[in-house]
Amino acid sequence: MIVGVPRESYPGERRVALAPVVIPSLAKAGLEVVVEAGAGVEGGFPDAEYAAKGAKILTERAEVFRVADIVIQVLCYGANDRTGKADVPFLRRGQVLIGFLRPLGSLETIREIAATGVTSFSIELMPRTTRAQSMDALSSMATMSGYKAVLIAADTLPKIFPMLTTAAGTLTPARVLVIGAGVAGLQAIATARRLGAVVSAYDLRPASKEQVQSLGGRFVELPIEAKDAQDAGGYAKAQDEDFYRRQRELLGKVVGESDVVITAAVVPGKKSPVLVTREMVSGMAPGSVIVDLAAERGGNCELTKAGEKTVEHGVTIIGLFNLASTVPYHASQMYARNITSFLLPMIKEGKLQLNLEDEIVHSTLVTQGGEVVNSRIREFFSLPPLVAEQKETK
Ligand code: NAD
Repeated sequence: MIVGVPRESYPGERRVALAPVVIPSLAKAGLEVVVEAGAGVEGGFPDAEYAAKGAKILTERAEVFRVADIVIQVLCYGANDRTGKADVPFLRRGQVLIGFLRPLGSLETIREIAATGVTSFSIELMPRTTRAQSMDALSSMATMSGYKAVLIAADTLPKIFPMLTTAAGTLTPARVLVIGAGVAGLQAIATARRLGAVVSAYDLRPASKEQVQSLGGRFVELPIEAKDAQDAGGYAKAQDEDFYRRQRELLGKVVGESDVVITAAVVPGKKSPVLVTREMVSGMAPGSVIVDLAAERGGNCELTKAGEKTVEHGVTIIGLFNLASTVPYHASQMYARNITSFLLPMIKEGKLQLNLEDEIVHSTLVTQGGEVVNSRIREFFSLPPLVAEQKETK
């Protein structure tokens, strides 16, 4: 079987779905790899490096799709709403597509993918189980984003992060507040600590307290308790507006005392809660910085402009998207390892064998045979259950 790796086409995207390092393990499983010319260049992987590992380089994008039994992308159509549509005519029945599809984004898009007959897997739908941990590309990308958010904040802040005792006096350390201590938030805490900042963090999931503290952060305790803070999958549950209002009231003081606020509080499939208001921003010292990692889903800060860097009340608010793409070498390497860990168990004697009983396969499979087959997606978009599912539940 042939695995095809097209060049990422989303404007400014620098990652590649497959770093050369994983090619030998794919070859061992009997898979050949074809790569669109230049696909890895931005990530620091020239064509020659792929060729040296045994991959074939093809100059035509359409040819990569034509020969591939399995196509691997970072941003497939769905997650790529700018240029992804151009790939749809290349997809075909029985072919496999793996990547980010933003499955809860647009039903129309998911239906267009389904109509090609392609068997598509959305990496966003990976279950949060121990077995699937090595396949969890969302977490890998969140790690990259959390790291980079701190570097951007440090670069923008007119202060340095560490405490310095010098002949010219003592410089006090920067105070960094992280709101939302998931994977991205935790990496932001670790990175800010490495740079010498004093770090506080808050999350509504009580379980996060210990993780924050283990990284050397101070956990901000608020005298409010979230109802059912997390679902069975470990994701935060949406709270009512009353809860968010109380949160904002209580967070105001901590935000005002911070030089840098990094927000990474998201609720899957929902608009991100607004936790930092205009009033809270105006209470921050001029020169302070907010990096809003939830910008793509509406933002945790009321003043965030999606995809932009703005200054309001003297505070720089950064709502740039896709920070993982700005560290393309390691982001691609992690992504490639996640995808390889996902793909290899499905290959038996060089052939793809889908075991729909397997929770990982079942959860991530989005379209097959012309249908949107994923029950979570069908439920989300209020589509009736498929006949087979109805039978199953009887
Ligand atoms: P996420 O990206 O879904 O959300 C980011 C964080 O925002 C979460 O910690 C969430 O609790 C928090 N949040 C949401 N609303 C908030 C609010 N109103 N106020 C404050 N915080 C709010 O989260 P994530 O990065 O996917 O991680 C969530 C948890 O799941 C972490 O503990 C992580 O370690 C764990 N995890 C487990 C696995 C696995 O077991 N395979 C995989 C990934 C993550």
